Amino acid sequence: MKQKPLVKEIAKERVGILLAAALLEKNPELADRQAMAAKKMALRHRIKLAYEARQLYCKSCKALIIPGRTARVRLGRSDTRVIRITCLRCGYVYRKIISRPQNKDL
Ligand SMILES: [Zn+2]
Repeated sequence: MKQKPLVKEIAKERVGILLAAALLEKNPELADRQAMAAKKMALRHRIKLAYEARQLYCKSCKALIIPGRTARVRLGRSDTRVIRITCLRCGYVYRKIISRPQNKDL
């Protein structure tokens, strides 16, 4: 008989709760710990984090990044719409392309 992956389901739910708590947490240390716990749990149960959730972690120092708190978000001013996110902890900057210019002559 096949067993339902109930443990994974519960873990998934807990990851979501931990992430939500981390985002609402006013104490940055506690928020960090909750975010790390969520990440660890996701890894342990091989849960793939949602795109939105993955954006919450710095690619360099793996810390939780919250725009306006632990990260600076700036919009680029070029043809290609870009957001630059700077992690305020390690200074790592990464760019996200929002959209490419339409109707561009080649
Ligand atoms: Zn960082």
